[in-house]
Amino acid sequence: MQQFKTESKRILDLMINSIYTNKEIFLRELISNASDAIDKMHFLSLTDSSIDSAFEIRLTLDKENRTLTVSDNGVGMDKDGLEKNLGTIASSGTLAFKKENADAAELIGQFGVGFYSAFMVAKKVEVITKAYGSDVAYKWTSEGVDGYEIEECERENFGTDVKVYLKDDEEGEDYGRFTEQYVIADLVRKYSDYIRYPIVTDMTKSRKKADGEGYEDYTEKTTLNSMTPIWKKQKSELKKEDYESYYSMKYYDFDKPLRVVHAKMEGNVEYTALLFFPAKAPMDFYSREFKKGLSLYSNGVLIMDKCEQLLPDYFGFVRGVIDSSDVSLNISREMLQQDRQLKAIANGVEKKIVSELTKMLEEDRENYEKLFEQFGSAIKYGVYNDYGAKKDELKDLLMFVSSADKKFVTLKEYCSRLKEGQNDIYYACGEEIDKIDRVAQVELMKKKGFEVLYLKDNVDEFALRMLGEYDGKKFKSVSDKDLNLDTEEEKKEMEDKAVSNKDLTDYIKDVLGDKVSSVALTRLVSQPVCLSYEGEITLEMEKVFRSVKGGQGAPVVAKKVLQINIDHPVFKRLRELFDSDHETLKKYVTMLYTQAMLSEGFDAGDLSEYFALVDELLVK
Ligand code: ADP
Repeated sequence: MQQFKTESKRILDLMINSIYTNKEIFLRELISNASDAIDKMHFLSLTDSSIDSAFEIRLTLDKENRTLTVSDNGVGMDKDGLEKNLGTIASSGTLAFKKENADAAELIGQFGVGFYSAFMVAKKVEVITKAYGSDVAYKWTSEGVDGYEIEECERENFGTDVKVYLKDDEEGEDYGRFTEQYVIADLVRKYSDYIRYPIVTDMTKSRKKADGEGYEDYTEKTTLNSMTPIWKKQKSELKKEDYESYYSMKYYDFDKPLRVVHAKMEGNVEYTALLFFPAKAPMDFYSREFKKGLSLYSNGVLIMDKCEQLLPDYFGFVRGVIDSSDVSLNISREMLQQDRQLKAIANGVEKKIVSELTKMLEEDRENYEKLFEQFGSAIKYGVYNDYGAKKDELKDLLMFVSSADKKFVTLKEYCSRLKEGQNDIYYACGEEIDKIDRVAQVELMKKKGFEVLYLKDNVDEFALRMLGEYDGKKFKSVSDKDLNLDTEEEKKEMEDKAVSNKDLTDYIKDVLGDKVSSVALTRLVSQPVCLSYEGEITLEMEKVFRSVKGGQGAPVVAKKVLQINIDHPVFKRLRELFDSDHETLKKYVTMLYTQAMLSEGFDAGDLSEYFALVDELLVK
């Protein structure tokens, strides 16, 4: 018995004792080795016409003896090759395992693990192989870490059979399933569908007997893989329906994608991308459970089902496939995160998504709006996250509902129709569009002919603050105390009123105490009072922070300003009461403050006092 090289022993050990649940990938590994061996033979066949070019990979399932054999008519291995290749792990493979602390299960999941992965499911592996040009065949046998044996044997043609003797079933692990034809057919379709050579097996099927009396079983050689992936076909060969049916089959989504992107990308790294923008967010999209990612293929071999690194979080909704021959299977053995090629692809994919979304916005507005309804929040988080690192790339993809027509408007569109002399982009926050529409300051802005963006997502205001400005225009909340909408004349008039009513506003401020930071006079449309803020923290921010439970540190509180509408009859009444009846005035002030808090969407605390005051008024 010969010993494995130390390094190989460790890896074998990892495989044999693997707690990794995705053991099925061993089949992908053996098939891809077979495909590589055929590739080499294919190359040789170009100059050697004696080589039979009916290349195929054959799977033989033996339920009774619990074996699965992967056979190929590739180049095979001679004795030296067997020693070298199966006695030592390929040196590239060692890299990933050098990290002492690396979690074996994760490594096995993410990286190609090659031939040795067979030991995840096998108690014994037998390799019978005859190298191209040789007359002797060899049999390599191993039952694991103890070592392996090589002896001469018979094999008619060049090529290799890898026979896996499946482990006994144990609790929670049914190894016998790897001899079930339907299990194997599914695995081939899942991991190796686009291997260039036919992967065949003899399938037992059922048919009506010739005499029409009942059914009989028969065996038929069946090709399990489709060989040409849809993304490798020419765009001109494909119809919209082809993409759509592939999409619904692959992602179990019966809503048609809003956009399909099929592109061959050239540059430092070449790859084909097939991307889908879904019509609806999956149930868990905005939860922690959601896993983003694109399937990563290397020349038709699936390396990873969901490669996270290929998509930034804010485009996590995109589904699809990347296939690159520049990402070899070997690459998967190194830390994927650090892979330069993968980073280059991720960059290219991100740029492509931005440009496709931009095109969609211009050419297919209806679908873009649908998409933004579903995934806009993710994009807005993208603007806000990482201290706004991506804000410039993403700002033109944003949309908000506008006061003008309650429809989506982009920042660019908003800026293209500013009122003369308007230097700010106005926005108002609230839970529902209709409610925002009735906010006192919004009413005023509309009356004055300004357009206001309606923000109803928690993230919205944070995203706009992170942007800071758009096209030189600052973002301004309509509840900002200093909206600066008045003409010089109006300003002057208001200042005079403030002076002549200072006694009243000071008194109101005294009544309200710390609840407000100041009391001011203003002009509104229909409402007697409203709240605004001064300083950095907006009313909306306070609300967002309040809604986040278990927040740490000092509470975030906006400096609130109670604004009183001097055109409203209520103001006149306050003035009168100030000169005649302070007790009633105090009650009015409390009521008006509560009213302003409630209409701004704040929790106004215990309302019983408020109700008592309303009741009292009813009988006056
Ligand atoms: P990798 O395929 O990444 O090199 P493996 O551990 O899977 O690593 O295989 C090691 C080597 O064994 C391969 O590089 C190849 O030379 C040889 N080998 C494995 N399977 C076959 C096969 N079916 N036919 C010919 N050679 C093979």
